[in-house]
Amino acid sequence: MRWFVCTLLLGYAFAKHEEYDGSALFSVKVQNMDQVDYFNTLDYPFDIWQYASLMRNGMVLVAKTYVQLFQNELNAKGIEFVIESENIKELLELEDQLFAEKARSKSVRAVDDLTINWDKIYNLTEVNDYLQKVANAYPNVVTLVNAGKSVEGRDINYLKISSTNFQDTSKPIIFIETLLHAREWVTLPASLYAIDKLVVNVNDQDLIDNYDWIVLPVANPDGYEFTHVPDGNRFWRKNRRAGVFPGNLCLGVDLNRNFDINFSQDSSNFACSETYHGPSAFSELETSAIRDILHEYEGRIELFIDIHSFGSMILYGWGTGQLPSNAFEIHAAGLRMAEAIDAVKMEYNRNYRVGNSALILYRASGSAMDYGLAANIPLSYVYELPGFRGVGQTIFGFLVHPDFIEQAGMETWEGLKAGANFVTRVRSGYQV
Ligand SMILES: [Zn+2]
Repeated sequence: MRWFVCTLLLGYAFAKHEEYDGSALFSVKVQNMDQVDYFNTLDYPFDIWQYASLMRNGMVLVAKTYVQLFQNELNAKGIEFVIESENIKELLELEDQLFAEKARSKSVRAVDDLTINWDKIYNLTEVNDYLQKVANAYPNVVTLVNAGKSVEGRDINYLKISSTNFQDTSKPIIFIETLLHAREWVTLPASLYAIDKLVVNVNDQDLIDNYDWIVLPVANPDGYEFTHVPDGNRFWRKNRRAGVFPGNLCLGVDLNRNFDINFSQDSSNFACSETYHGPSAFSELETSAIRDILHEYEGRIELFIDIHSFGSMILYGWGTGQLPSNAFEIHAAGLRMAEAIDAVKMEYNRNYRVGNSALILYRASGSAMDYGLAANIPLSYVYELPGFRGVGQTIFGFLVHPDFIEQAGMETWEGLKAGANFVTRVRSGYQV
């Protein structure tokens, strides 16, 4: 009997991450615009982890079946590359192992109080429990709001944090959002850290006296849940909308291409693509919920930060490459935020870069960031938090090293505070 149970457990252990067995992570060095375009337009079944530019290598995850073909193609085109990981399943198992070790060594608790456990990445249930507990413990400052349901019926929750119950309409609102892309786990600590510093362990009362805050930790709850469950997929990016065409087995819409701003201009019409924009603008419940928040507080939101990973960048619109009319101000605020993060970053992580998303990365349409600009938010950004490089310089990419969780929260919070201070300075007529 015991042997039988062990076999079952082993069978389960071997099955996890099985679809990534033999998938290789390539780092590709492009040297001219033709190569940039070639790389950045790779689509399903390739999974671009990081767009390429002349300044920076691109990264792409390639399934086992295509590894040799892809190498041949790169060689034929004379494009330089290195293989960062020959089998990404080993890195997935390393992440599991690191979290299991933390759980054993420090008696990881369930969320039973307001102290955040930085040894783990909370799953959706744990996040929602935490939000509820903070709201219960601080009813004068925190309101838990349900912005609607996801396509699979999960709650999309956010906190309103305010010393004046959002009634003082002269106060600017700062809106922070994480996990619009499900696999970008390292972004969650940024939301949780902000909540902790605004409500529970307050160091700077001005931040709550002078601003109202909206914090939306899990913008894509179905996708996020799918990255956690044993039969899910740790590298899932999109939501979980069922295939829309008869016979189409590919699921999910890239929520950060589904907003009604230049919709479908620079995104994929192919349902299997990681950047599939969906059947129409705001076809998805998740993006519609965010749109409604943006419009409910239109005119009061002065800073909107949609937090992603990875790449150590602060990006602004427009995704077409055109600059907004207040680009100078946006860039100046971006630099302030980047400097604040760089001052406390981990030594081996590179400095943040600041710039227009299309110029630094690649054109993209239908993003939350661009929709924020269109909804009259003067300062609208994407943060790309750092990708962790561990011992032996192993790139973790979307995977999280437990030792980086609290640091990611802390350093991002420094950037957010600098952004808030910039809002005040602009309001008081300070020349940027
Ligand atoms: Zn993202």
